[in-house]
Amino acid sequence: MKTKVCTKCKKNKRLQNFYKRSARKSRSKYGKPYKKHSDNQEKEEYQQWCKDCFNQKCHNYYLKHKDKYKQRATNWKKLHREEHREQAKKERMRVVTFLGGKCSSPNCKWANDDDSYGCNDPRALQIDHINGDGYKYKNSYKSEIYYILKLIKENPDKVRKKFQLLCANCNWIKRAENHEY
Ligand SMILES: [Zn+2]
Ligand SMILES: [Zn+2]
Repeated sequence: MKTKVCTKCKKNKRLQNFYKRSARKSRSKYGKPYKKHSDNQEKEEYQQWCKDCFNQKCHNYYLKHKDKYKQRATNWKKLHREEHREQAKKERMRVVTFLGGKCSSPNCKWANDDDSYGCNDPRALQIDHINGDGYKYKNSYKSEIYYILKLIKENPDKVRKKFQLLCANCNWIKRAENHEY
């Protein structure tokens, strides 16, 4: 079992408790990339500080410069607002497509252009929590989309069980009937 002593906490830890140095850094410091044949050299590929100490340092740095980070994020957002919007639209469309692209209510009275019933206009479609447990994400529509996208990858059946599409009308009617508002 290969171990290395962290220069910060002085504990002897297994190599997997250290992050690897970035290839660029290790080259610039030692002239050429490491070869793996010697034990010491392999250890040198890892950082001096263990993961715990390194993460702690990063977190402290973040806390100290939190405002700067936040400002930077806000500026970035402003700059890329349009891209964000497009991205968000695409992500939402992926969920809408996955859930069938039309209103799930059998009583939907919306007639589409091709005379079929069940609204299929994505602008009017809303993601409904079948069991009305939407309170968790009430303030964070965006993170709900991310959550669903992640769940589609991991457990698509669960998504189909939990969520459905309803057009705005059917959604309001469901809420009125269930006294959800
Ligand atoms: Zn340490
Ligand atoms: Zn409907």
